[in-house]
Amino acid sequence: MTDRFQKQRIRMVDTQIRVRGVSDQRVLTAMEKIPRHLFVDEGLIDQAYNDNPLPIERQQTISQPYIVALMSEALALTGREKVLEIGTGSGYQTAILAELAERVFSIERIAALATGARRVLDVLNDYNVAIRVGDGTYGWREESPFEAIVVTAGAPRIPKLLIEQLAVGGRLVLPVGSRNSQALLKLTRLSEDPEDLKQEDLGGCRFVDLIGEHGWAN
Ligand code: SAM
Repeated sequence: MTDRFQKQRIRMVDTQIRVRGVSDQRVLTAMEKIPRHLFVDEGLIDQAYNDNPLPIERQQTISQPYIVALMSEALALTGREKVLEIGTGSGYQTAILAELAERVFSIERIAALATGARRVLDVLNDYNVAIRVGDGTYGWREESPFEAIVVTAGAPRIPKLLIEQLAVGGRLVLPVGSRNSQALLKLTRLSEDPEDLKQEDLGGCRFVDLIGEHGWAN
């Protein structure tokens, strides 16, 4: 999409994302393409390409561009996958995933955010995205298994049901830790045994709470 923000997007990718080591060309291309300014509040449009998260409705946030790129790269998508996202928020990461995978299933607990995200995703013709309102800590069993699952809110522990809904060889990327600080983990399911996992630590981060039955209490 060519618009007056295109130069800012290219600069964002060069100065915030590539320099920090994200090298998956499909991720970089998606980040250069998707108009992040459509996903932020009107009053914050001029900050849409800054190197930080921004507030969205209902005390939630649109994640820092670098974190979106890092999580997307960690999912190792080729374009053929079914992906589950927990925490649609503004829908920005959902739009990036829609570029990188075949189908995206996204769950958001706050209905107003899900409605707002759907509106923007429709403008972008992202018809390979399904959004559901509910508690994403249960996953989306009817559509499982997923080759990739991303959780965009901080969890106190790894939700077991999400591992069960991960395909063998599938990747789960999520922040796990306390309410104030988490480690961004990448878990790869190695076999039919849901406990047979490879775990990698991608670094420290701070997300809003994952609230739900298998997350934090409200
Ligand atoms: N990736 C999003 C973006 O680009 O805008 C940012 C998401 S924001 C950091 C985290 C989102 O997770 C919030 O919108 C919050 O309402 C949602 N959330 C928290 N707990 C949830 C749950 N159990 N199920 C679904 N969504 C949840």
